[in-house]
Amino acid sequence: MDDVKKFISENGLGEISENMSFKDCTTLKVGGKISLFYYPNTVENFLIFHDYFRPSGRPLFIIGSGSNVFAADDDFEGVVVSFKKLPIKYYRVGNIYTCYPGCSVVRLSHDLAKAGFAGGEFLAGIPATVGGAVYMNAGANGSEIKDVLISAKLLDRNGEVREYKNFELGFGYRKTRLQDEGLIVLEAKFKFNPEKPEKVLKRVRELKKQRSATQPVEQKCAGCTFQNPPGKKAWELIDAIGFRGYKINRAQVSEKHCNFLINNGGATSKDFLELIEKIKEKVKNKFGIDLKCEWVLVNFDNISPF
Ligand SMILES: Cc1cc2nc3c(=O)[nH]c(=O)nc-3n(C[C@H](O)[C@H](O)[C@H](O)COP(=O)(O)OP(=O)(O)OC[C@H]3O[C@@H](n4cnc5c(N)ncnc54)[C@H](O)[C@@H]3O)c2cc1C
Repeated sequence: MDDVKKFISENGLGEISENMSFKDCTTLKVGGKISLFYYPNTVENFLIFHDYFRPSGRPLFIIGSGSNVFAADDDFEGVVVSFKKLPIKYYRVGNIYTCYPGCSVVRLSHDLAKAGFAGGEFLAGIPATVGGAVYMNAGANGSEIKDVLISAKLLDRNGEVREYKNFELGFGYRKTRLQDEGLIVLEAKFKFNPEKPEKVLKRVRELKKQRSATQPVEQKCAGCTFQNPPGKKAWELIDAIGFRGYKINRAQVSEKHCNFLINNGGATSKDFLELIEKIKEKVKNKFGIDLKCEWVLVNFDNISPF
């Protein structure tokens, strides 16, 4: 990776670190060392890096807040990119917000409320960046990214950048076209509706309170582990197999919310894999339902997607 490090440094394309691991940059705090961690200082400089790096075919992973990422314990022999240090987070023209990929959606949601714009309240409890939220079509409390997104500027695997309209993004339940095609979010435009700040702030506060009462937000976790099967709640199925609080080594089903798996400190990806397999097997035997994992798996070889 020395050539890449040299290229980034000599061209002033941003910061690099060789001391990071997935434990440092994910909320689950699991995963191996990362050969090179790169913070671009501008989107344009990221594109210069991408043009240089792409032909090598070496692994590249874009990370947001790492709040949906489950990484293997093995070391990652590639580059992980974070847009969190881009100097501008977003700008507003009228009621249109143009956001950069590293912008925290929690911060965006609060800023929207304070500025008197409604529609982004659901983002207040999702510990995501704009890039990760668009990629996952993140949602809560009956709203999803697809409801507020106008368009997104994306980079494809051939190095082409283009503005995609909402209807072109193949939005579904925690599903987007970006996942199938490896598209990278460089910018996203959202539309929000004017409303009195006090009213919006009140809703933000209520949603956050409700969330911390029902989810283990203070624990090391990666959000809901399984998608809700049609007409069912994954947490109810896990509760029904008697797995509330069930542990494998340091990995545990949350007592507070059965669809959250938590790291009690020092859990390995192997612990979580075993726990996930066990839950899936029990739910399949009892209800005939195949639970589908919502997490993004990184650096796992020879593992069929859950
Ligand atoms: C306590 C807790 C509560 C949660 N609650 C919710 C909830 O209510 N609703 C919900 O939907 N999710 C929830 N999640 C899960 C998670 O926050 C979302 O999936 C979120 O969208 C992930 O965003 P991120 O920035 O952390 O992305 P990451 O987890 O870092 O990455 C997720 C995926 O997005 C990709 N990605 C990140 N940035 C980019 C980019 N710029 N371009 C292209 N791809 C990119 C990554 O490569 C990866 O494949 C929760 C998680 C936690 C820990």
